[in-house]
Amino acid sequence: MSEGAAGPDTPLAAGSPFELRTNLGKGVPETDVRAALATGDMGFLHSFTTGSAVDGPGVRVVAWTSGCMWRCLYCHNPDTWTMGNGIPVTIARATEELRKYRQGLKAMSGGFTLSGGEPLMQHRFAVKLFAAARRMGIHTALDTNGYYGDRLSDGELETIDLVLLDVKGWDEARHRRLTGMEIGPTLEFARRLAARKKPVWIRFVLVPELTDDPQDVASLASFAAGLGNVERVDVLPFHQMGRFKWKELGLKYELGDARPPSAEAVERACAAFREEGLNAV
Ligand code: SF4
Repeated sequence: MSEGAAGPDTPLAAGSPFELRTNLGKGVPETDVRAALATGDMGFLHSFTTGSAVDGPGVRVVAWTSGCMWRCLYCHNPDTWTMGNGIPVTIARATEELRKYRQGLKAMSGGFTLSGGEPLMQHRFAVKLFAAARRMGIHTALDTNGYYGDRLSDGELETIDLVLLDVKGWDEARHRRLTGMEIGPTLEFARRLAARKKPVWIRFVLVPELTDDPQDVASLASFAAGLGNVERVDVLPFHQMGRFKWKELGLKYELGDARPPSAEAVERACAAFREEGLNAV
């Protein structure tokens, strides 16, 4: 667990995003936070991790932003909800961090993924970091719930090679119960990405009795297939790896008794996407 105000020497690298980090932005004046958000000259990051094989094609370096406006019941990184839990990082420092991995990423046909938290909470910073990655010739991916997709201009979208769109469900009431927010903006962003022929991978977390309604999954599959730009669907089995964070943060965790889905249930969900002609894994 890392706790307490971060300085310029606080390491950005973490072994995994499951490392609990809190209050690293403590002491940053509110006016600085606002200025950072407006300009994108500074962002708040939980960490950088390397070697991911699941956050886009090839081997990925992932920057995990802090700040999220959703409150998903199954969130495994609730320490990223609060922007002030992240390390304040200038765009120059984040770019230099990325530069370290440039050659390796190219050699491994990998790239850079910005995840979170919700990266578009800090969309100016995200845009600057993607532009910097592009200038270095690094493949770029944005992992987002899509709610703030309209914060990105069409031109800014062009700095992103791939969008990993986290779609949490289909039914409006169930989506609201799961995330605290409505699903409409996510679907609207999906349609906009489709209109621009932007490659998308959909990520869907399967939780028994929460997101596994067969009709919901079938409806989501039909919607995704109709977009025409969905290259792949990742059905992600729910897990309990983030449970300890809820406890450490003093948050009420409603899914304490929830179990991961069976291999058969995951396969059934994948099959529903495949029936619509999608590549589901
Ligand atoms: S959108 Fe992601 S980071 Fe935000 S609460 Fe949901 S799972 Fe957690």
